[in-house]
Amino acid sequence: MAELLGGPVAQKICEKITDSLEAAKKSDKYPGRLPKLAIVRIGKRDDDLAYERGAVKRIEKLGMNFEIFEFDGNITNEEFQKEFIKINNDNNIDGILLFMPLPENINTRETISNFSPEKDLDGLTLTNMACLYAGTGGYAPCTAEAVIKLLEYSDIETDGKNVTVIGRSNVIGKPVSMMLIDKNATVTICHSHTRNLKDICKRADIVIAAVGKAKMIDGSYIGDGSVVIDVGVNVDENGELCGDVDYGSVFEKAKLITPVPRGVGSITTSVLSEHLLRSFIKKFDI
Ligand code: NAP
Repeated sequence: MAELLGGPVAQKICEKITDSLEAAKKSDKYPGRLPKLAIVRIGKRDDDLAYERGAVKRIEKLGMNFEIFEFDGNITNEEFQKEFIKINNDNNIDGILLFMPLPENINTRETISNFSPEKDLDGLTLTNMACLYAGTGGYAPCTAEAVIKLLEYSDIETDGKNVTVIGRSNVIGKPVSMMLIDKNATVTICHSHTRNLKDICKRADIVIAAVGKAKMIDGSYIGDGSVVIDVGVNVDENGELCGDVDYGSVFEKAKLITPVPRGVGSITTSVLSEHLLRSFIKKFDI
């Protein structure tokens, strides 16, 4: 019956980034320029723009650089691939945030195959996925890693715990499950075909909701004293931002619960910034 906030975790991650950036600047190998993020967006979806504003604010505050590459929704696949390859090959760009999903007229597979894993800060390429699944580094999707950072920085034990993840997407459900297995949790991955979802959730020590359905997980899914991490970002019937968890009824039962907003979402741009700095440091072998 307490809130688990993302802000303090984001703050701690940012303090580490500031220290590492200052140390990098003092290195003999510092190239004399700051790390730079390219933000690649096709069209102007409201949720993309909201995330972009947050990312830009975070990158600027940390004293790093960015450039926004906005493309018209009518761009042809051929034109877009040409532009994307140019951005990807630009030596002054250390990492790319590519907004997904791409419009239907753009070939997603081709785009991903034109994406260098070293610049793929949100774990979209097959190489980064393979690294994550093999537990050998690479860049995990930022939101999935934000969940792990939240648990780690909040001293929530995962070793030997039963964790139920609701959702099996490549950006959240699957990667967060793999990372939790590496942290010695026993993970049950649920999806739209799962039977007895309520019972599976009730038995869990930690429930991670990444469903994309406003307030679907209510108090009847939650065992007393569990930890509930809400990854969902939805709009409710009154036009208000809300998670996948019905905050009011779950708050009564859970030991800890992340609110929406001010929960997982507040950590994601710090993880993105940490990935950008890591890419820069690796590139120049600092
Ligand atoms: P997604 O690709 O739509 O995946 C949703 C998953 O939920 C699917 O695996 C689906 O199962 C499962 N599901 C749907 N209905 C279900 C049900 N009734 N019972 C059990 N499982 C069900 O969504 P996503 O990209 O993973 O995103 C999940 C949520 O996180 C969304 O609300 C999104 O807005 C939010 N999000 C937040 C952040 C952040 O920074 N906080 C970032 C990205 C996304 P099937 O596979 O069987 O279809």
